[in-house]
Amino acid sequence: MKRANKFVVRPQSEQDRELLHELLDASASLWNELTYERRQQYFDGESVWDTADYRKQYVGVLGSATAQQLIRKSKSAWKSFFSLKQDGERCSPPGYWGKEDDGRTLRTYVRNDQYTLKLGDCSRLEIPVGKELKEKYGLGYTERLRLEVAGDPEWNGKQGRLELYYDEPSDQFRAFQPVNVDNSRLDSPLADETAALDIGVNNIVACTTTTGEQYLYEGRGLFERFRETTREIARLQSKLREGRYSSNRIRRLYRRQTRRRDHAMDALARDLVERLYEEGVSTVYVGDLTNVLETHWSVRVNAKTHNFWSFRAFIDRLAYTAEEFGISVEVRTEAWTSQTCPNCGSTEDTTRHRDTLTCTCGFEGHADLTASEAFLRRHETDVPRPMARPVRFEWDDHHWSELPHSRESSKEARTNRSIHA
Ligand SMILES: [Zn+2]
Repeated sequence: MKRANKFVVRPQSEQDRELLHELLDASASLWNELTYERRQQYFDGESVWDTADYRKQYVGVLGSATAQQLIRKSKSAWKSFFSLKQDGERCSPPGYWGKEDDGRTLRTYVRNDQYTLKLGDCSRLEIPVGKELKEKYGLGYTERLRLEVAGDPEWNGKQGRLELYYDEPSDQFRAFQPVNVDNSRLDSPLADETAALDIGVNNIVACTTTTGEQYLYEGRGLFERFRETTREIARLQSKLREGRYSSNRIRRLYRRQTRRRDHAMDALARDLVERLYEEGVSTVYVGDLTNVLETHWSVRVNAKTHNFWSFRAFIDRLAYTAEEFGISVEVRTEAWTSQTCPNCGSTEDTTRHRDTLTCTCGFEGHADLTASEAFLRRHETDVPRPMARPVRFEWDDHHWSELPHSRESSKEARTNRSIHA
């Protein structure tokens, strides 16, 4: 059951007070800037999802997790606004924290695994701050801001996202902490599950976990649009006057193309990592790039497509996102895994054709998913054959959305079922 603790927090020095104030002020500033950009886009009739990188801008002050938390909160506010609107409800787009004249509302959100609340004789709360603030206020590299807790928080349990705000009338900093109280509360062991990824062209990521889940992020639509833009750029280039190599129009197309790709890849890394985190995954194996390039980059796939996916950047992004969730990314060779039959283990009797891997033992399955499964099996001894149907995702310009009935209707699912029967 859900309960909430409300309590007052007190900075232990004037300097800590300033630090906390600055942290809340920067959070409000991030929120307001992002909201401003999205409202402009919305009123101009444009998509609100392509925005500047506020995480990057605020990571130094807020730390990565808190900046991300605020960005996520904005996203969900806009999502619920759109879904209400779609349902024909009267509603207005998400607004600012505070009015221009009265100044900002000082508030922030701290992700549930980023803060520590210790209760006892001298209860205290520790919250993360960004590197720049640590330097400015003389905190150590791994140090967090420690605050005194006044009063006696009533509930004890699995802690939720903490909200911290400045209450002007009382001139106090207050905290609001949702708690999930469980009757049979035992501290769960650290997550110890593993996942392996197969990175490719048509399917950007195929993933198998030791919990038996499989995810497939399809890249065809995204790639098609990329190619259309590339063709359009080529067309414009061919019309350029002699001696000219580019134009504003071409540069704009390039920028938009890059932005779209980065947005999709960022969203993919985050969507995947959040799912893995929910599954209790602590380690993700990713194939080393030389091998990815050899196995997937046939003659048909030219340097332009290589450019498009920019694997190196994607893996960096994935590792960065994973780190936020305490998940480690390990790069390993995946030689032969794309040809290994998950049913009998043979590498010689299999045939890979387009998206399908078949084996003389009777196995037939999705080539990239089975490759990720074989890759996982190489690093883990105890890998169950995936029992759940794979979940498929497609990019719709804003999100990776689950394809309807992806768990039931794929050919892969039927094939697996017949093998298990
Ligand atoms: Zn086989």
